[in-house]
Amino acid sequence: MGLLNRYAETLPELGSFILPEPLKDMRVGLFNTTLANELALPEPLMKPQNMLDWLHSPVTPLTQRAFAQKYGGHQFGQWNPELGDGRGLLLAEVIDSNAQPHDLHLKGAGPTPYSRRADGRAVLRSTLREYIGAEALHYLGIPSSRSLCLFTSSDTVYRERSETGAMMIRTAPSHIRFGHFEYYFYASQTDKLQRLLDFTIKHHFAESKEATNPYAALLGAVVRRTARLVALWQTHGFVHGVMNTDNMSIHGITFDYGPFAFLDNYESGAVFNHSDHQGRYAFNQQPGIALWNLNALAHAFSGHCSVDEIKAALSTFEPTFISQYQHLMLSRMGLETSEQEQSLALMQSWLQVLETENQDYTYNFRQLALANVSSIECPFRDTFVDREKLDAWWESYRQLRLAREEDTELLSLNPAVIPRTHLLQQAIELAENNDFSFSEALLEATSTPFDTKWDTHPFSKPPSSSTHTSLSCSS
Ligand code: AMP
Ligand code: MG
Ligand code: MG
Repeated sequence: MGLLNRYAETLPELGSFILPEPLKDMRVGLFNTTLANELALPEPLMKPQNMLDWLHSPVTPLTQRAFAQKYGGHQFGQWNPELGDGRGLLLAEVIDSNAQPHDLHLKGAGPTPYSRRADGRAVLRSTLREYIGAEALHYLGIPSSRSLCLFTSSDTVYRERSETGAMMIRTAPSHIRFGHFEYYFYASQTDKLQRLLDFTIKHHFAESKEATNPYAALLGAVVRRTARLVALWQTHGFVHGVMNTDNMSIHGITFDYGPFAFLDNYESGAVFNHSDHQGRYAFNQQPGIALWNLNALAHAFSGHCSVDEIKAALSTFEPTFISQYQHLMLSRMGLETSEQEQSLALMQSWLQVLETENQDYTYNFRQLALANVSSIECPFRDTFVDREKLDAWWESYRQLRLAREEDTELLSLNPAVIPRTHLLQQAIELAENNDFSFSEALLEATSTPFDTKWDTHPFSKPPSSSTHTSLSCSS
């Protein structure tokens, strides 16, 4: 059949076999044919209706080895051993034509031994946000889990109010989180930790096997991938919102979408998670929190690595993050190969201008990419209040751009369309009435986010009122 269950079969004592519990009248809302083709899914699964039928029977390749993984995590800085797949199930694994593995994971599948007192369900609102958000990040070039399929239902799930129950199937190289290693380490289950480490290296970090200490090499690889991921988040104004260690993928991909948002107005301390009272997961805290999380992960490796090996692995975070971030930001501004110090100063002052003027982040980067630097007057100066300040900035900026030997094409680095909260909100309202046309349109736009055809489309515009929304965490 081409479907595997390597995690569940190799490490059955690291979780529980659980059958998905379908919702009432489940229907296919969205199906990602492009991804299905990329994954080279077995033929029957190319039809989402078959997928749905298979989820309703206990003896199909999607259900017979469905598995809830046990893990823990540091939530808002506090260790919590009571976590695990409380509403998600690992259904199966597919290997694509490049021999890369992909988990098929069903979210909202019903209760598991790790649900604590919660219902095991997901609502259409958060499922749709994750579905569109993850695909959009992928097409922006930010590593992410992918979205394969969304099912809606006539079931009601109660959150702060009654909502439509839904499920989605997402894919990722694996669903192994920082919190997996932490759990078996803190529980002193050394044999399970050992088997998990060896599984991870064998199936997902095979290049680490050649190193003197493969575990140190694994840790180092996770550090570098995470640093690169967060550099991309910061460059694009993406806020994950709940960077608990159980929501951190060892693959350095964006994972476990909850109260995520892209910045509209540039606000460096923006917080979107409405339970984040301290601003722990604010936009500008993300690099520091990523390193905090890596420290927590590294602690779980302390039986397998020397202190020096751990220090060496962690010490690659800052240089990787900073060089990636600067490279990405300067590239977006067309200043990559220019005089470094002056370019970085111009980048900083640009961000300052955006912040003081309450200007939209993505939109203004796009305007900069569209602007002709031979123009003496900044083409978008009229939308700024302090024009003298902008004029001075523009003059230094355009001189630096003009001094470059060849100018680069910036449109392909500065998206016109991102999945803004207000657009996702419109998609949700229609989908609640079984109309996925807006979702489909938004998916189309966010899968070609750099295309100039969107510059005249409402999708590329910032929201009219700059209301700062706050989003709930577990929904
Ligand atoms: P999250 O904040 O979504 O990352 O979830 C944290 C933990 O709570 C994980 O162990 C989830 O599986 C669990 N969880 C979240 N929502 C639910 C739910 N509705 N039912 C059961 N478990 C849940
Ligand atoms: Mg989670
Ligand atoms: Mg979650």
